[in-house]
Amino acid sequence: MKLTNRTPKYVPGEVLLRLKNSGNTLSDDILSEYGSNIVERFELSEASLNSNESHDIVRVKLPQGVDVNDALAQMKQDERIAFAEPNYLYRLPEFQATEPTALPNDLTSKLWGLHNEGQTGGKPGADINAPEAWQITQGDNSPNGPLIAVIDTGIDYTHPDLAANMWTNPGEIPGDGIDNDGNGVVDDVHGYNAFAQTGDPMDGHSHGTHCAGTIGAVGDNGIGVVGVSPKAKLMAVKIFSDEGESTSASILRGLLYANKMGADITSNSWGGGPYNEAVKEAFAASEALHVVAAGNDKVDNDAIDYYPANYDVDNMLVVAATDHRDERAAFSQWGASKVDVAAPGKDIYSTVPNGKYASYSGTSMATPHVSGVAALVASQYPDATAQQIKDRIIYGSDKVHDLTDISVSDGRVNAAASLENDTIAPGSPKQVQIEDLNYRGAALSWLTPGDDGDQGAPVSTVEIRMSEKPITEENFREAKPFLTGSENALNERHGYAIQETPSLKERQVYFSVQAVDNAGNRSPLVSTEQVTLPKAELLFNEDFTSSRTSFDIDGDFRSFKDPIKGQVFTSAPPRGSRAKSTSTLTSPRINLSKHENPFLQFEMSADLAIANTAELEVTTDGRRWSQLERIENSDGWKTHGLDLSAYEGKTVQLRFSVNSRIGRAKNGISLSSLQVFGQADKE
Ligand code: CA
Ligand code: CA
Repeated sequence: MKLTNRTPKYVPGEVLLRLKNSGNTLSDDILSEYGSNIVERFELSEASLNSNESHDIVRVKLPQGVDVNDALAQMKQDERIAFAEPNYLYRLPEFQATEPTALPNDLTSKLWGLHNEGQTGGKPGADINAPEAWQITQGDNSPNGPLIAVIDTGIDYTHPDLAANMWTNPGEIPGDGIDNDGNGVVDDVHGYNAFAQTGDPMDGHSHGTHCAGTIGAVGDNGIGVVGVSPKAKLMAVKIFSDEGESTSASILRGLLYANKMGADITSNSWGGGPYNEAVKEAFAASEALHVVAAGNDKVDNDAIDYYPANYDVDNMLVVAATDHRDERAAFSQWGASKVDVAAPGKDIYSTVPNGKYASYSGTSMATPHVSGVAALVASQYPDATAQQIKDRIIYGSDKVHDLTDISVSDGRVNAAASLENDTIAPGSPKQVQIEDLNYRGAALSWLTPGDDGDQGAPVSTVEIRMSEKPITEENFREAKPFLTGSENALNERHGYAIQETPSLKERQVYFSVQAVDNAGNRSPLVSTEQVTLPKAELLFNEDFTSSRTSFDIDGDFRSFKDPIKGQVFTSAPPRGSRAKSTSTLTSPRINLSKHENPFLQFEMSADLAIANTAELEVTTDGRRWSQLERIENSDGWKTHGLDLSAYEGKTVQLRFSVNSRIGRAKNGISLSSLQVFGQADKE
């Protein structure tokens, strides 16, 4: 579920802030200077506290007629205030889905995400291995079982396929109009309506009920569907109105309620809008595992921040969506470092209100698959921490070639592998060597160890970490991870090249190498000495943000305002015009004679009409051109990197060309931030 908020809107006359100093009297004094008063207090747990900041985030009403931005500008100058931000308004886009249908009679075959034999035209085995996982556990809906908070539009807790798996607040007497358990909410029997601030989280929208069914629709009850965790304890936390509206304050209330009531897992199929410090802190203040959607705008979250997915919170697990062929769903956002795993999210069949069922698509649907796996792991291993559950999900996932660089793991979730009862760490990678150091990264190699104390099969993952500090057993999680799949034999040398965005500064770094098995057991760490990554030189730079460019333009190429990237160059002709048969964009001469390892990097989105072709070419003499790359359609913006070492010592020109055979162009190709890097010669 996406919060549409490109131009942030906010509640007029309200601000969320935290004071640096604790003590309520002082707080009120400061706020009275602003003519303001506290209308709501959000209590975060000790875990999030910085010693010189007060415990609570507060919602403040400004005096009549005071503009929020004026107040924020003053508050940001005020040294007594840790942060101040608007109470943002969020709105969901129109929701697209197939019509709810009556009870179907061919249920299991629709649930390809749980068990895929190719019955929907996809690839057999492109699923989360639910039947295999259910041999180990089907979840635990007893009072001791894990509590799963569905942070969404609420849940139809009367749905016959959900009712038996709904959490019931043991301290609350239904319908007596009294807050029996003293948690601040009257008659909160199955959860909390954080939007309306009532005890009734009934879902009048459908999104939350759909997510709840994927996590934990009741299994083996002869109706409807079965969830990933057929026995589950689902808590409905409604942060959206039935019209899909929310505010920062509503999200805070929901997250803090889930934390207070002891949620072990929160499932967050929503995102968008600006960075929100208060919401980030509410996630960090909880020890639950927060499973979060990567988003549906088919962009790279490593390049464009998307929240809450991109909040730097250790106990968060971010999920991209796959289809029934084990490929990234075309809409799904991705991120080689900002997304953790992928899971089924296209054409997902689940519960909707009033006893019905429907198919929806989105990372909103992938997220509850992973929340369900987290529930299975937490049921089987009740003492597992959020980090251990997260590790089991990441390292137990199946590496899929088509999902390379979609996420940290390159994997699609595998519930059965994540549940394996294995406590024996693999052996360490042996004879670790640094093969190459360059301005884009490094290449390392090692002899592949065996799992289970080096006695078993080759280990599933070898993880390299890179840091500017020495890496130890204590701090390795702070260092950036690179997961490498190991498909080769025991004790064979296996290599991996880390490729980073070129850095214009020299970097002193350390590496560590560690084997990790599917249950998240880790071998002892092998750490390297400090090494130097040389700096990159920028040999050529064209950002395409101005209508004037250093490139020669021919055909349809023009400056254009892209909704995601802003000002770019595109080959798409203006609306209503036929495409010219050939359009080219040709660079000036770029001198590669004085640098080593030249490397071209650019951002491109390609959406060509049928029968049209596009390519990137290079010339050294301005006459004979040869192809560097054939351009394929890309489903959104991607960063492209091309090694130009074959042209070291020469002067080159680059040319993007698009050939339109039938006058149609669709969106053609669009280009942004093109750079050529090289490394100064080592005299
Ligand atoms: Ca209560
Ligand atoms: Ca059922």
